Amino acid sequence: MIDLRSDTVTVPSPAMRAFMLEAPVGDDVFMEDPTVIELEQTIAKIFGKEAALFCSSGTQTNQIAINVHVQPGGEVICHEESHIYKYEGGGIAKNSGASVRLLQGDRGRLSASEIEKWINPAQDVHFPITQLISLEDTANRGGGAIYDAQVLEKISDLSKKLKLPLHLDGARVFNALAENAMPAAQYGQFFDSISVCLSKGLGAPVGSVLIGSHEFIHKARRVRKVLGGGMRQAGIIAAGGLFALKHNVARLKEDHLHAKALENALLKCTFIEKVVPVQTNIVVAILKNAEQRDLLISKFAEKGIKCMAFGPGMIRMVTHLNISQQDIDYCVNIIEKM
Ligand SMILES: *Cc1c(COP(=O)(O)O)cnc(C)c1O
Repeated sequence: MIDLRSDTVTVPSPAMRAFMLEAPVGDDVFMEDPTVIELEQTIAKIFGKEAALFCSSGTQTNQIAINVHVQPGGEVICHEESHIYKYEGGGIAKNSGASVRLLQGDRGRLSASEIEKWINPAQDVHFPITQLISLEDTANRGGGAIYDAQVLEKISDLSKKLKLPLHLDGARVFNALAENAMPAAQYGQFFDSISVCLSKGLGAPVGSVLIGSHEFIHKARRVRKVLGGGMRQAGIIAAGGLFALKHNVARLKEDHLHAKALENALLKCTFIEKVVPVQTNIVVAILKNAEQRDLLISKFAEKGIKCMAFGPGMIRMVTHLNISQQDIDYCVNIIEKM
């Protein structure tokens, strides 16, 4: 089976497993796990930040960040299709008692002018106090769309001017960095906190990291503990992330080329209305006849290709490090024949 449902389906390579097996470990709640410490210091340095915190998932890193930045009754500004709102089980309300202001924006992205319009006047007691701006780069529901550096700079300037923290859900931030060619340490300066998934295109089996200042990470560490996320000999899984940062970042462009090839093949299909222009590793296709979505997915499955329903009349294919050039050639051939 060629599994294009998500980049979360990647499995650790034999080399990654060997590295994990050998990793030195200790009790990370005592902050004595050398591998976790190395991972946290490595990723903080990559983004030009002081500190980081290894967590079980990207949902956990996002939810911790929100909890640190926002007080109950405060408001988070994010895109209406953002992961923090749509796919985290109502965690903003449940964990942090916060309100959300959901904005529309091109392919999951926001602009500084749109954000500025929706910042509530703090002196008016009617309104929840705006306390956080959260962005997603790349934007999953936007078909892997990337932010322009200039747009991020404007949003970052706005957040600094208003003293509003800016969080990045960077589940796929390395896919964005592979294309926008910004040095990560410079990119990191736009944000107060960054969440990065190690278990997607980077190919580690488990884990995400939250990145920020010493003060922020100290607070985040407490929230992680409260949520039951303090792990003991976590180095054995953190090692997968460390290995991924060393070996699986530079190759991400390959996945983007593969996604482009799938896009081009889908564009030739008579039953496809539109493909969201591919920028990274996510391909979203919109069918002419929405009713045929599940039939199409099962036709692909019969040919050994797994893809995912992505809303009414939409399918998603995601490329990743377990998809080879040969797999892509096969998929292109199947798609063009369909
Ligand atoms: C996958 C993902 C996350 C985190 O998901 P987990 O499964 O909790 O690790 C967060 N944001 C985006 C945009 C994602 O795609």
